[in-house]
Amino acid sequence: MNLRKLILTENACYKAGRKITPKGIMVHSTGANNPYLRRYVGPDDGQLGVNEYNNHWNQDRPGGRQVCVHAFIGKLKDGSIATYQTLPWNHRGWHAGGKANDTHIGFEICEDGLTDASYFNAVYKEAVELCVYLCKLYNLTEKDVIGHYEGYQKGIASNHGDPRNWFPKHGKSMDTFRADVKKLLSEGEKPAEQERKKYYRVQIGAYSVKANAEAQLAKAKKAGFTDAFIKYD
Ligand SMILES: [Zn+2]
Repeated sequence: MNLRKLILTENACYKAGRKITPKGIMVHSTGANNPYLRRYVGPDDGQLGVNEYNNHWNQDRPGGRQVCVHAFIGKLKDGSIATYQTLPWNHRGWHAGGKANDTHIGFEICEDGLTDASYFNAVYKEAVELCVYLCKLYNLTEKDVIGHYEGYQKGIASNHGDPRNWFPKHGKSMDTFRADVKKLLSEGEKPAEQERKKYYRVQIGAYSVKANAEAQLAKAKKAGFTDAFIKYD
């Protein structure tokens, strides 16, 4: 994940300054064909690129609407994929159009024309990684991750279909998404296992009497094998 930060401090949602205890994560997609982050995140920090129309969301009411999310995933000006955090994670966002605003972190994936598989796969992976990061931060699991349309089904969000309008076009769904979050979360649970390096060890003796082992160790060290050691098992 390429996580960057540009808090939308001019947005009325940020100014409202309400906090939440995150209990879940809501996945959104923008519903507009523009994969560039600069459409929503600004002003230009050198990586986003300039929004010529100045219609990004770092203003009181973008397009006259009371909207704000915790993050956007999309393209930088050089075409690479990034995640921009746009609200503190425990800030109350205006993304769900329902009670989920009081409980859920919400992020938008910038849609393109919905047919580019390489763009989709890149932002899908980025979104999975963002959810894993947030799950660890707030002790959540994949079960706490829902799409906007699922929020509507649960009665905690407005009637929108995202991201179901997009994921199935590339063989994915919120179920595959949760499965991928779960998989990455469980991989993260055994870092010691993954980081333990394997070595080819050279053994020069095995002794049942400790003194004999120590004598052999002294001999080996004297012969120049200064890293030699005794292992008892
Ligand atoms: Zn949505």
